[in-house]
Amino acid sequence: MKVAITLREAADGVHKKVKLRKQVACKECSGSGGAHGSGASDCPECHGSGRRRQVVRTLLGQMVTEVACNRCGGRGSVVTDPCGACRGTGTVRGEETVEVRIPAGVARGNYMDLQGHGDAGEHGGRPGGLRVVFDVGEDEIFERHGDDLLVDVPVSPVDLMLGVKVEVPTLDGRVVLKVPAGTQTHKVFRLRGKGMPRLHRSDRGDQLVRILAWTPEKITADEKSRLESLRAGLASRVPAPGRGLVD
Ligand SMILES: [Zn+2]
Ligand SMILES: [Zn+2]
Repeated sequence: MKVAITLREAADGVHKKVKLRKQVACKECSGSGGAHGSGASDCPECHGSGRRRQVVRTLLGQMVTEVACNRCGGRGSVVTDPCGACRGTGTVRGEETVEVRIPAGVARGNYMDLQGHGDAGEHGGRPGGLRVVFDVGEDEIFERHGDDLLVDVPVSPVDLMLGVKVEVPTLDGRVVLKVPAGTQTHKVFRLRGKGMPRLHRSDRGDQLVRILAWTPEKITADEKSRLESLRAGLASRVPAPGRGLVD
């Protein structure tokens, strides 16, 4: 079954109570399948062995093999007076709430096997295992790349030219990043150890901060005239078109 968690929950690790719809042991017959405490009795077909001898003709003559008894399905016992609540199977549709301890650092598609939390076995048999698959949602701020987290920080072109200190959100709160003068748009800075915890380890991935030049759609007349005075001087220093201008 799938369990949906947020990126923040995946970062911290979380205990989740999950309600399972599954086959549970029938209370009426305590899982035996027999009405009124009658339980099961030896299968009359195989006398309790669960196996049946089968004679097969082959080129080398007759051979005797053993196969599962089809009356009791190999269990060796049959319910002669079936419980009405479960029709003799010993299990009914029900619910169970399990607490799943999700470790820090899980990613979408990671899973966990919980022994004994699957469907109850028929006729009082042991329950199977349950596989819980984690579905980690998208975050509004952080874009996950494995154990690294990417965040885009827009700044004005003037700040790129002059240098600026920007506040960057991280999982641990805001940090100040110094963007040096002359930084190109799309430049990626790496904050070591500020990413997602690595699953079952004590270290963390990195946070990547991508600086993007943000251009206002509207500027005032005053801003326009001051920028016009800079235009020609800056334009003369722009490199020729080509590859590798932005890393
Ligand atoms: Zn029952
Ligand atoms: Zn049998």
